[in-house]
Amino acid sequence: MSDLTKNDFVAALRRMAAVFEREMESLSRLDSLIGDGDHGISMARGFRAVAGQLPGVADQDIGAIAGMVASSLTGSIGGVTGPIFGTVFARLAATAGGKEHLNVDDLARGFRAALDAVSAIGNARPGDKTMVDALAPAASALEQAAREGLDMETALERAARAADEGARATVQMRATKGRARYLGERSIGHQDPGATSFALIVRALADAYRDGHAPSGIRATPSEIPRLTH
Ligand code: ADP
Ligand code: MG
Repeated sequence: MSDLTKNDFVAALRRMAAVFEREMESLSRLDSLIGDGDHGISMARGFRAVAGQLPGVADQDIGAIAGMVASSLTGSIGGVTGPIFGTVFARLAATAGGKEHLNVDDLARGFRAALDAVSAIGNARPGDKTMVDALAPAASALEQAAREGLDMETALERAARAADEGARATVQMRATKGRARYLGERSIGHQDPGATSFALIVRALADAYRDGHAPSGIRATPSEIPRLTH
């Protein structure tokens, strides 16, 4: 069976918390180049709150767990990042309400709903050098995978790669949203921290799923957690 289970989702959230702990300084460094330097600390604080709340929702469905993530991120992160990343998980929660398993189509609908909601709140479009540049290609990759009837592991791998490519493509973009817009042309040449964080989230989801479904004793990759590439 190729569904993403509640256990996969919980494992992915634990992995995200570890990734943001590890990448906190790199992400804040990216934000110090084009923003105010707090992005890594914000993400780490947010996912620390998520990890702290996980035991209390372990017996609930994916929708309720995603709802907890949304409120933990929104409640513990200020600025733009709390509401934006909180909204992503709130829309996933709405799609996953009452479910213990998600198929590729469910995930595609969740990511599309997240993109629509984030776009409505922050008015960012692809090309504006924000996390939308990672979220939009990930949503499209999942929709394409659903249309092709691909299994969950392949679908998540494609989404993670699409998000990562989207985040890397922000290097060449000029920011027109968020604090980075004040830099104008000088924002070109640096990768957007929010897009980088979103790519790390999708990578953690793909890796947690793959490791959770690997034949016992065999690990698909040697590294536990993906590394930020710069
Ligand atoms: P702050 O600007 O409050 O310090 P952070 O540094 O935590 O927020 O996060 C900045 C990130 O937020 C940016 O890298 C960008 O990806 C994202 N962002 C900024 N504005 C928007 C927007 N309007 N829509 C979506 N994402 C945005
Ligand atoms: Mg910032």
